[in-house]
Amino acid sequence: MKAVVYNGPRDIAVENVPDPTIEQPTDAIVKITSTNICGSDLHMYEGRTSFEPGRIFGHENLGEVVETGSAVQDLHQGDMVAVPFNVACGTCENCNAGLTNYCLTANPDPELAGAAYGFADMGPWSGGQAEYLRVPWADFNALRLPPGARDKEDDYVMLADIWPTGYHATEMAGVAAGDTVVVYGAGPVGLFAAYSSVLKSASKVMVVDRHPDRLALAEKIGAVPIDDSKTDPVQAVLEQTDGKGADRGCECVGYQAHDPQGKEQNNLTLNRLIDSVKFTGGIGVVGVFVPSDPGSPDELGKQGKAAVDYGKFWFKGQHMGTGQCPVKRYNRKLCNLIAANSAQPSFLVSHELPLSKAVEAYQHFDAREHGWTKVVLKP
Ligand code: NAD
Ligand code: ZN
Ligand code: ZN
Repeated sequence: MKAVVYNGPRDIAVENVPDPTIEQPTDAIVKITSTNICGSDLHMYEGRTSFEPGRIFGHENLGEVVETGSAVQDLHQGDMVAVPFNVACGTCENCNAGLTNYCLTANPDPELAGAAYGFADMGPWSGGQAEYLRVPWADFNALRLPPGARDKEDDYVMLADIWPTGYHATEMAGVAAGDTVVVYGAGPVGLFAAYSSVLKSASKVMVVDRHPDRLALAEKIGAVPIDDSKTDPVQAVLEQTDGKGADRGCECVGYQAHDPQGKEQNNLTLNRLIDSVKFTGGIGVVGVFVPSDPGSPDELGKQGKAAVDYGKFWFKGQHMGTGQCPVKRYNRKLCNLIAANSAQPSFLVSHELPLSKAVEAYQHFDAREHGWTKVVLKP
C-alpha cells in the first residue's frame, strides 16, 4: 500500500510499504478514506522528536472496516469508523477510569503512559496516512459512525483528535454556559476550543493569534478575534471583561509559542493566560509541552521547561488542567451533534487532497501558509 513515510527532518515521501495485517484477535483493519494532517505531526516532521525514519504518520483517521480478528464482536466489515488518536487497551487501571490518554498497556515503555498512531514516544503503532490501518483493541477504540457518514466524512474525521482536543481544553478549564473564555492560538485546536465554547453557550469567546485568515475563522464561528501583533492581548481581554479577566482560558499553542516577530518564547501563552484569566478562574492546557531531554542541560525555554509565574498563578487561586485528550470520553456525544446537524466541524477544512499530494501538503501546512488551516488527505 501507499503511505506517508518519515525519512528525516522535513523529508517525507509517499512510498510503498507492506499492508498491515491482523496480528491479534482483537485487531481490525480499516481502509482509510479520510486522514488529517495535524499540528502535532509537525513536531515529528520538523525533526524535534525521536521519530524513527521509516515510520508512517497519521493519527486522525476515518475509514471502513475491511477485516476483523476472531475476538472482535461489535465491529463488522463495512462499518464506517472514526479512530481516536489514543491507542488504548480498554482494561488497564487507567482505561477503566476513562483515562484512555494514559493507557498503561498500549505504550510498551514502562516509564511512559499513553499511546497514539504514528507518533514519537507513544508506542510502536503505525499511522493512518496510508491506504490501510491496523487498529488494536478495535471494539474499544473504533467509534462506529451513523448511517450517512460517507457524506459527512470531513465532519466525522474531526472526531479522531482535533475537535475532542479543543473540547477537552474547555472541559479542563471548566467552561459552562454564560462564561467568558479566552483561547490562545487559532490553529485547528484553538478554533475547536472556541467552537466548543460557543456550543456550550459561553457569553463571550475571545481568540488570540496573529494570522488574519485564522482570526477571520474565529470571528466566523462567533468569537472576538484579538490580533496580538497589533494589540496587547492581556489588555484586550481585560477590556472585553470589564477589567476582571476571562472566567476561563485555553492554551492551544504549546512549547512553540512565539512572539509575533517569530522569537520562540515557550512561556508566553501560559503567563498571558494567568494574566488574562480572573482570580479563581480555570485554565486548560492542551498545547504540547514535552519533557526536557535528560541528556541536555536544564535550560529554561527548551521545549519542556517554561518560566511560568507560579506565584501569580497561586496568588490568583487559579486551577489548571493539562495533557493529552482522552478522545473516547467525548467522541460519541460530539458525533451525535454532527449527526443531528447541530455541529459542522468541517468548517475548518481548507484543503482536501489525495494521499499522493502529501509532500506538498506538509510543506504548505508547516509554513502556516495563508489559508492552509486543515488538510484532509483522501487515500
Ligand atoms: P498550529 O500550529 O496549527 O496552531 C498554533 C497557533 O498558535 C498558530 O496559529 C500560531 O500562530 C499560534 N501562536 C503561536 N504563538 C502564539 C502566541 N504567543 N499567542 C497566540 N497564538 C500563538 O497547531 P494546532 O494543530 O492548532 O495544535 C496546537 C497545539 O495543540 C500543538 O502543540 C499540538 O501538538 C497540540 N495538540 C494537543 C493535543 C492533546 O491531546 N493535548 C492534541 C492535538 C494537538
Ligand atoms: Zn492531531
Ligand atoms: Zn489501557
